Amino acid sequence: MNMIAATQNPHKIKEIDAITKSFGLTVIGRSDAGVAEFDIIEDGTTFEENSLIKAMAIHKETGAVTIADDSGIEVDELNGMPGIHSARFAGEDGNDKRNNQKLLRLLEGVPRERRTGRFVSVITVVFSEDDILVARGECEGHILHEERGAGGFGYDPLFVPDGYDKSFGEMGVGVKNQISHRARALQELSRQLQLRGR
Ligand code: IMP
Repeated sequence: MNMIAATQNPHKIKEIDAITKSFGLTVIGRSDAGVAEFDIIEDGTTFEENSLIKAMAIHKETGAVTIADDSGIEVDELNGMPGIHSARFAGEDGNDKRNNQKLLRLLEGVPRERRTGRFVSVITVVFSEDDILVARGECEGHILHEERGAGGFGYDPLFVPDGYDKSFGEMGVGVKNQISHRARALQELSRQLQLRGR
């Protein structure tokens, strides 16, 4: 089955594609599918709402089956922030580096046992306007005191998943793709697809 991905983030598309291949799904990036460039206003208040907004926007534009991921990191000490605001945590003109610096600043002096949190990914597939699948995946862990590793993207150098001592930025993408929030959401999606006999 072919699906058009609502995301423009090349890291995410690569991760999604690496995982979905094993489920017999082919994910095509929005621009590779020839979808004209347009902004999607993500004004939902949950990962679920924003994921649906993105998948539905591209579905309405193309009529195709679409897949969207909305994801972010929730930090317990910050009452779940940055959460759905993860991409623009340091402001509209921010970037991964500044987002990570801001997170470290807010957690200055906070000891290891209170630096817990999780990555969350909500994946939505829109087959038609009234035929929609939603799958959530989470990965628990903690936030380091400094960045470690140059792999991955976003908050990866700051996040160590439970049961591991390497950050997502230090472990190979092969390991990350077995345990990540996105991998878990895609496994759940695969389960739902199988249940429906697709
Ligand atoms: P979205 O594109 O609106 O879903 O924003 C997701 C943001 O959450 C990204 O820009 C990253 O900052 C962060 N994020 C989501 N997934 C990951 C991941 O796997 N590693 C690191 N950061 C992530």
